[in-house]
Amino acid sequence: MLRLRAVAILMLLALALVAASSPSSSSLASSPQEVRVRGGESLPKQTRELIAAAARADAGELSRRYGAAYNRDFTVYLPGTVEEFARIGGAATPAEAIGYADPSRDLVVVSPAVWKGEPWRVGTVLLVEISHLVLDEKLGLDREELPHWLDEGLSTDAALDWSLARGWPSLQRDRLTRYRFLTLTLWQSISGSRQQELATRAALRRGDLPSLAGIDGLFSKDTSDVRLAYAASYSFMHYLTRSHGEGARIRLLGALEGGADIDTSFRLAFGKGLAALEKDWRASLLEEGWPFGMLSTLAQLLVTLTVVVFFGVLLALGVIRYRRRGPYSHARRMSHLLIAIIVTALLLGTPTAGAATQTAGTAGRDAPPVSVKAESEIPAAYRSRISAVVFDRAAALSVAYRHSYERPVTVLLAARSDRFPRVGAAGDVLAVARPAEASIVVSPKSWRGDPKGLDGVLAHEVSHLVLGDKFAQGGAPLPRWLDEGLAQYVAGTWDFDLDWAGQRERTMRAAVASRSLLPISSLEPAFNDPDSLSLAYAESYGFVQYLSVTFGRQRLERFVDRASSSPSVEEAAEAALGRSFGDVEKEWRAQLIGDTQWWQLLLDDQTFLVLLWSVLAALVVLGFLLNSRRKRRAYERMEEDDARWDYREVSLDEREADDRVPE
Ligand SMILES: [Zn+2]
Repeated sequence: MLRLRAVAILMLLALALVAASSPSSSSLASSPQEVRVRGGESLPKQTRELIAAAARADAGELSRRYGAAYNRDFTVYLPGTVEEFARIGGAATPAEAIGYADPSRDLVVVSPAVWKGEPWRVGTVLLVEISHLVLDEKLGLDREELPHWLDEGLSTDAALDWSLARGWPSLQRDRLTRYRFLTLTLWQSISGSRQQELATRAALRRGDLPSLAGIDGLFSKDTSDVRLAYAASYSFMHYLTRSHGEGARIRLLGALEGGADIDTSFRLAFGKGLAALEKDWRASLLEEGWPFGMLSTLAQLLVTLTVVVFFGVLLALGVIRYRRRGPYSHARRMSHLLIAIIVTALLLGTPTAGAATQTAGTAGRDAPPVSVKAESEIPAAYRSRISAVVFDRAAALSVAYRHSYERPVTVLLAARSDRFPRVGAAGDVLAVARPAEASIVVSPKSWRGDPKGLDGVLAHEVSHLVLGDKFAQGGAPLPRWLDEGLAQYVAGTWDFDLDWAGQRERTMRAAVASRSLLPISSLEPAFNDPDSLSLAYAESYGFVQYLSVTFGRQRLERFVDRASSSPSVEEAAEAALGRSFGDVEKEWRAQLIGDTQWWQLLLDDQTFLVLLWSVLAALVVLGFLLNSRRKRRAYERMEEDDARWDYREVSLDEREADDRVPE
């Protein structure tokens, strides 16, 4: 019973993350899309609702990513047994499949092995399968005509890429830290993409990697071939998006949609034919050597190794103890202590679990037109992506900030970075928002980089535009902490940098530990001082997050609304939160101090965690060695005794031999 409940909670969390982190896509859709969830009756009603919400959000996001308009109602089916799963899928679906999509029936089926056994994977399965639905709608092709490697490669790439872009790694820290044991699972699911790369590389080195044309044949073979087929499809498409950007993917789909054949479409999108691209891809697989940072590989290896050694030795100690039945109390005590340490390390996370990120559910009205200007050439697809994000965010924030933002927005992609000031440790400014002119100027550093990163930058800057406009109309001065706090908070899962959230958290902990937290009222000058800038951002974010968690989104919205026309934030807090601003700040501070423990500073640190495991393993080995040496001595002494004492007078029980050390 307890296990069932735990599974339901896990699933709920995972799906809440997906649902909460998805942008509202309804602003671009004409009628709300209906997603039905069938089967899965054993799940709580709320979980099923979350699955539907996550599926709808996935369809919206994937439509945006593919430049498609998938607006059909569809069904997510959760069959109760593996037999039923196989029956619905027909002969084409292998029993070990985790899910499949049937565009002709507007149907996505999730294997019971996943939704019952590994609920945290439901989010990924939904993404991959819904991607098939959206691609089918976009390309209007029979599934037979689109090569499998292209269909599967695009879907896996988009799904893994998206779950990364939505900040799953930072989610570990932000939301699931209370359930620290969960993070290992998430971590593993993330490194799934790395495993795909490794499998492909290994096959190439063995000479087993077929040509693209040959990959399709593998999908119908046995398990290891199917795995390779997926891995290679993913690797190829991932290589292309990584090297040519997401705009190229949208161009590719546009060309396919227009009826161009596969090779022509690739030529149009990537400037090279399929054969040449395939050659480049194979060359890149060989030359990279290490598929990802050597350090992280070593760290993963070390962690795995120490965990294995640790549990191996623990097991060995247990077996020895059982065999000898001796009261080797120091060994027992040590193993108890170690188990306690590990359980504590796994379970204790930051008690400040964040709330779901703000996204407005029903956006769509009053979204402004967006014009994108660039000082140097950019692809049309990139341009349309930028205006889609700005449009979407402005619509969503119009709802969240209770302010119809109707101004036409200009986004300027600057060619030179020297007009952006450097600000202390925070580095270069990524973009600047000018609410008075309704414009955003983006540094080449962020727009020439990863387009996913740009989404986060835009989300942040659009918040400044909408909030700035609201306060200008309301007549109240906009406090900097509220402006930056909300901008970071609403950009939440759109974080520019996956490490941003972790960095922010570490800055806060360090400030709490060194008693250098600044009062909210004195944050204003801190934003202008390079030394305190990072802390000012982190505190702004932390306080806004606290307000949202403590008072709920509704009341935070009311507070923002009130503050825009109040003489002071103190007055707005009294009216909207029903408490004095000073008291709220005091409670936040007390909670921060109460929550932050010295060991959290250490647990934040990956290097320390690796070290901790290594030391634990070393301790166990040392204990084991000491133990056996002690025993060997005891035996030696026993043997000396044998020479002097009558053999039969000595108990054969080791316990007594051990305790009765002869004089
Ligand atoms: Zn900002």
